[in-house]
Amino acid sequence: MFSRLIFKYNNFSSGQIRTLITSQRAKMSKECSDISKTLNANLWDSDPELWEIIKKEKKRQLRGLEMIASENFTTLPVLQCLSSCLSNKYSEGMPGQRYYGGNQFIDQIEFLAQKRSLEAYNLNPEEWGVNVQPYSGSPANFAVYTGVVEPHGRIMGLDLPDGGHLTHGFFTQTKKISATSMFFESMPYRVNPETGLIDYDKILETAKLFRPKLIIAGVTCYSRALDYKRFRQICDEVGAYLMADMAHISGLVAAGVTPSPFEYSDIVTTTTHKSLRGPRAGIIFFRKGVRSVNGKGEKILYDLESRINQAVFPGLQGGPHENAIAAIATAMKQTKSPDFVTYAKQIVANAKRLCDGLQSKGYKIVTGGTEVHMLLMDLRPKGISGAKAEYILEEVSIACNKNTVPGDKSALNPSGLRIGTPALTTRGFKEENIDDVVNFIDCALQLGIEIAKTSGPKLVDFKKAVHEHFSSEVTALRNEVEKYSEQFPLPGYPEY
Ligand SMILES: *Cc1c(COP(=O)(O)O)cnc(C)c1O
Repeated sequence: MFSRLIFKYNNFSSGQIRTLITSQRAKMSKECSDISKTLNANLWDSDPELWEIIKKEKKRQLRGLEMIASENFTTLPVLQCLSSCLSNKYSEGMPGQRYYGGNQFIDQIEFLAQKRSLEAYNLNPEEWGVNVQPYSGSPANFAVYTGVVEPHGRIMGLDLPDGGHLTHGFFTQTKKISATSMFFESMPYRVNPETGLIDYDKILETAKLFRPKLIIAGVTCYSRALDYKRFRQICDEVGAYLMADMAHISGLVAAGVTPSPFEYSDIVTTTTHKSLRGPRAGIIFFRKGVRSVNGKGEKILYDLESRINQAVFPGLQGGPHENAIAAIATAMKQTKSPDFVTYAKQIVANAKRLCDGLQSKGYKIVTGGTEVHMLLMDLRPKGISGAKAEYILEEVSIACNKNTVPGDKSALNPSGLRIGTPALTTRGFKEENIDDVVNFIDCALQLGIEIAKTSGPKLVDFKKAVHEHFSSEVTALRNEVEKYSEQFPLPGYPEY
């Protein structure tokens, strides 16, 4: 810029040129400070309206007991990656083979995320590959189906009301709900309505008739470890791929406190924001190398790598979110620390304590216990619906969600509550704190049961009764819960 200035003004004396340069510099520095005013203002100055809402959400997170089984509080390093300059970059393609320039550092980050993801699960890079680009768990699953199953090919997964995920192919009698059931043919399997346990014999029987291309072993609401070996045997009998979707438990798997699906699976998908405690994102692990040896002794190789990578991009996505990929890298590093193992063990210990406490107060738990991070309460014997129970708990700042229980007549009016411990464990809750939580939950539900007796069957009437006749009881309990909860720190930025 200055050399051009000098060229343009070469008839001037050196003193005149110096004056010109000085005035030009002053002008530029004023422009810079204008930029910092408009583009670099803090959110609290530039958008106070939004800032106030974010601060309220932070307060809600601090004051409440977060027991939604899929939620967690991620760490400061993860949040720092998410809000970094990496958000600015386009990097379509795989690291080393991008469609845009300027990706030398982005490539390093994505390679690091891949390497650490494999290390987190002790995988040999000769046998397993990983794609860290899916935007979240649902797109990761859809990418697998897109890459591995032909259009309208067959898939089997656990039915949603029985604890499976929407993306495993959910449809109702009248409507295809998940895109998985629109673009592929999905056949659900179920749990035994008496025991609440997955009925493996029935999966085999159905699979032999349906001949699926892929079977999903994965759950969003199931309190027992899955029998991946049994899933493998079923898949081998019908020639299907086994895809494990370990979204909820991937933190527990990384810490080695629940059985790993990798030994038996062809493909493993996961979210990274649940028990794993990373950013909101999804990843796909796939096998490489020899899949089987045929009758003539010839090796049949896996072709999952190119199919899955191409399904993610260019099949379904554009530019990967490299800020999230960096956050995956740092979250995977965290899983290797002794603290993470302690945290994961504590999640399970807390869930068991929660289960014991609720059972001792007379609540029914589906499958009679838990081996993981969550449990499912069956409220049918208590005379309160899942929706009302969820509502009264929410009113006293305890967050969890209504859920169908095995044998529920209607998915629209579920009879259960799904309650999990990862988020509270992150805040430092130990068994003795869980005992206090059990008391809070019991108090709220007792109150809810009392209100439900007189308010009539509808949720709106229940809500009305809560506010018109029981607001002082609810407020008193909420204050107690919030006072208790506020003592436990949250990771992240102090204010937001
Ligand atoms: C949460 C979950 C998903 C979907 O993840 P999103 O990030 O919400 O899209 C998929 N499968 C299972 C088993 C899950 O629990």
